[in-house]
Amino acid sequence: MRMKFLPQTAAPPCGDAGLYVDIVGEGRGLLFDLGYAPRLPTRLLRRAQAVFVTHTHLDHFVSAAQFIRLSITRGEPLHLWGPPGFIGNVDGLFRAFTWNVSEDYPLAVTAHEYDGAWVRSADFSARDRFVLSNRRRRKAGRALIEDPSLTLRAAVLDHGTPVLAYRLDEKTHININKDALQRLGYSPGGWIQNLKEAVLSGVRSSTPVETPLGPRPFGRLREELVILTEGQSIGYVVDFAATRENLSRAAALLKGVHLLYIETSFEASEARRARERNHLTTTQAGRLARRCGAKKVIPLHLSPKYLGQEKRLYEEVQAAFEGKKDNETNIR
Ligand SMILES: [Zn+2]
Ligand SMILES: [Zn+2]
Repeated sequence: MRMKFLPQTAAPPCGDAGLYVDIVGEGRGLLFDLGYAPRLPTRLLRRAQAVFVTHTHLDHFVSAAQFIRLSITRGEPLHLWGPPGFIGNVDGLFRAFTWNVSEDYPLAVTAHEYDGAWVRSADFSARDRFVLSNRRRRKAGRALIEDPSLTLRAAVLDHGTPVLAYRLDEKTHININKDALQRLGYSPGGWIQNLKEAVLSGVRSSTPVETPLGPRPFGRLREELVILTEGQSIGYVVDFAATRENLSRAAALLKGVHLLYIETSFEASEARRARERNHLTTTQAGRLARRCGAKKVIPLHLSPKYLGQEKRLYEEVQAAFEGKKDNETNIR
């Protein structure tokens, strides 16, 4: 399979949560969280055109200032996303520094916060010494970002504070079978674009589509000529408790995701502690991945006390993912 997304975790399993996803062939990447990221070289961080912060606990936002420093010469706009209150966090970050010698830098940052219904945004630019300006809000659509290559969606979960869970999808590719085109006597032309648009908009099978051989029912053309290739999808979900509400919201967002990065703070036997700390156990993480129908689960953000025992915790996640421990209930 041709890979569009190249993901790279920011830190070892017992380190801070964080993920960089390179968008292959487009010279850009997306970053998830701004904790301590020893695995991410400067070269990759500078390619990030947007950062999706889950929440601003220290271990998810501690490198924000360093990231702004690396991006200060960036000519393209930089977008920072986070949960309710995030614009205040970004404003506080900028107010922590003195900017009187930075006015010639090109960096322009837009901070966005998402509460499940609304997106609130504000701008900060080096030219204006990063003073907050242009506050606005809009009703959120289906996705936070939708461009020709990808879609980025989020859900709000509870971790004692709102946390955003994220899902990144590559757009489905619509290709035309050139051999079939030739064999059936169709000549290429503008009508192919109309056919692709009909696939995207999901028209009825009986709807006629104009071809060089006259009108043909859409369903027949789709069957004869169209090849659909499903895109890659990645879920990134960290720092939340296994409450019924959180699990249903996460499962709805992450349904059928290919690659699921999920926090696994505690071992299976520490369910009570995980609940108190608003985190997941290995079993809860594996079971959620199973419920979503994820193809692969990658645990991260293990408590540092498990350093050297990562393999054992990974095995617990995998066992639950494969359905080997279905007799426990850790839902409060
Ligand atoms: Zn946290
Ligand atoms: Zn954390």
